[in-house]
Amino acid sequence: MMNFSKSIEAFKEARPLMPGGVNSPVRAFRSVDMNPIFMEKGKGSRVTDIDGNDYIDYVLSWGPLILGHANDKVVSIIKETAEKGTSFGTPHKYETELAKLVIDRVPSVEVVRMVNSGTEATMSALRLARGYTGRDLILKFEGSYHGHGDSLLIKAGSGVATLGLPDSPGVPVGVAKNTLTAPYNGIDEVKTIFEKFGDQIAGVIVEPVAGNMGVVPPLPGFLETLRELTETHGALLIFDEVMTGFRVAYHCAQGYYNITPDLTCLGKVIGGGLPVGAYGGKREIMENIAPDGPIYQAGTLSGNPLAMAAGYMTLSQLKPEDDLSFRKKADRLAEGYNEAARKYEIPLTVNQAGSMIGIFFTNENVINYSTAKTANLDYFKTYFKSMIEQGISIPPSQFEGLFLSTEHSMDDIELTIQAAEKAFKSIRE
Ligand code: PLP
Repeated sequence: MMNFSKSIEAFKEARPLMPGGVNSPVRAFRSVDMNPIFMEKGKGSRVTDIDGNDYIDYVLSWGPLILGHANDKVVSIIKETAEKGTSFGTPHKYETELAKLVIDRVPSVEVVRMVNSGTEATMSALRLARGYTGRDLILKFEGSYHGHGDSLLIKAGSGVATLGLPDSPGVPVGVAKNTLTAPYNGIDEVKTIFEKFGDQIAGVIVEPVAGNMGVVPPLPGFLETLRELTETHGALLIFDEVMTGFRVAYHCAQGYYNITPDLTCLGKVIGGGLPVGAYGGKREIMENIAPDGPIYQAGTLSGNPLAMAAGYMTLSQLKPEDDLSFRKKADRLAEGYNEAARKYEIPLTVNQAGSMIGIFFTNENVINYSTAKTANLDYFKTYFKSMIEQGISIPPSQFEGLFLSTEHSMDDIELTIQAAEKAFKSIRE
């Protein structure tokens, strides 16, 4: 048995100081009835907690660390940059360097604005869509999470799904009534909504691969239908690639599925582990943002030199060939999990998209939030505890995916499969 005594002590100290003792809800480990684990350090695919326990890490700070923990070049550039000053509130050359890489890699982005989080990116993209079209309604999908902005905290995934929370108190009715929702992959429902409200919809915001109800790829025709309907009705198509950006593929999900949205939201990977977000798109739309245009959005620390440097050095090291290597690792992980599940007769569905993997304890084909919710949460809890005890760090929620980094080795994958097999055995005991 692992010893977690220092994490238990550390959480006792933190508990009264912050809501739930944490600064982001799922970190509290409530859905798995465990004490949260305090991490101390990480390198490559591994992390070590404050009790000295080692783990293969599939959380990767909830996605950003695509090169693994403490990548040498990323750490060096952060240090070099910090030694010259951490923030100036003036333009800085790394803003331009990161913008160049984002524009080069993300097909829909001609102009980009950096912000400080994914939440800011989606909030700002919505304002732009509304300002640009002169319309108020937004369509989002059930079980998708786009950060905690008022307009988008409606039928949300991620922590909201994990904790089984109703739509959040504090979101004004007047705001919520401007958000329409449909099931993910619900082509017919979206068509019906457009028939009814087509001329009032400013934009459709979608995770091109859903990652906040577990991992759920788009069915053939879903993204195509969204592209077609938005174009026909004069609404903007907004891809929230905060999670999928550079994870589903080198050219993001939009490159992989060959659908070009009007606006794209980014975050996570493009900050290399530092706080960041970005939104971008067609020049004609983006030039409505201040100071070029009247739609206001600003930030004291936006384009922060350390975050820009870390993001620049992260994207600089990613290669198109990484797509294949992620695919091989994800395929093997899926194969190993499926074999283990058959052996212990565990209902299991594994969804994959590039370096994102969704493990669901159900035999249903998981294509939306209601099918994701058929997963057996008790099985997940037992599996999670067993994986942690075996030194495998995974997100403490059935409704979150696993992330791979370039540093995860095939040996890591085999060790993880062996651990999953034991975890499945323990479900049956
Ligand atoms: N959009 C998506 C798809 C996300 O997965 C997340 C966070 O998990 C966000 C937006 C919000 O990003 P942040 O947590 O940086 O505000």
